[in-house]
Amino acid sequence: MDSNVILIDHPVIQTKLAELRDVSADHRKFRELLNEIASLMVYEVTRDWPTRPRPVRTPLEETTGQMLARQVTLVPILRAGLGMADGVLRLLPDARLGHLGVYRDEKTLEPVPYYQKLPPDIASTEVLLIDPMLATGGSGSAAVSFLKNAGVASMKFVCLVAAPEGIANFHRQHPEVPIYCAAIDRQLNDRAYILPGLGDAGDRIFGT
Ligand code: URA
Repeated sequence: MDSNVILIDHPVIQTKLAELRDVSADHRKFRELLNEIASLMVYEVTRDWPTRPRPVRTPLEETTGQMLARQVTLVPILRAGLGMADGVLRLLPDARLGHLGVYRDEKTLEPVPYYQKLPPDIASTEVLLIDPMLATGGSGSAAVSFLKNAGVASMKFVCLVAAPEGIANFHRQHPEVPIYCAAIDRQLNDRAYILPGLGDAGDRIFGT
């Protein structure tokens, strides 16, 4: 397997993912599960982030704690990425939020950027680019290129379900950007949906 793909196969995450895939999960249930999984993934995604010492006075004495050394920016790819943002923010409440709008043209399947709003100092922060589905890899790769142009040096791509085709395409263009996912599914169908997948993540999150 591609060594820069980290598959988080924790049993609790896998249990929630199975419930999420179920066609009978309505948008309320889907949103809830997606955010819970996103929160749980944060532990693994942030595992190698540097910390810095911080003096702390406990009720008994002075000691030294550790805290994250760098600011964090979440960048959900609109619109489905928004479905994971609250879950990540629950564990990283000080993170700033940038937004990147990239949609996939239904005919050409090519990514089309349509909206960008990023924190001005994003280049000096740890960036988590989030999108539940890594399908063709087109939107994700376009988003990474955009963030690199904005000066971002440290970023990770966090998704829920990845297709082998999407991983290959993404890493052909950005081999150094780690992909974190909870599942690598079988393949894409001829409309670039992931199989078995979970359907259209945006529609399921927003009830559209
Ligand atoms: N986007 C989705 O929401 N689902 C897929 O299966 C592929 C792309």
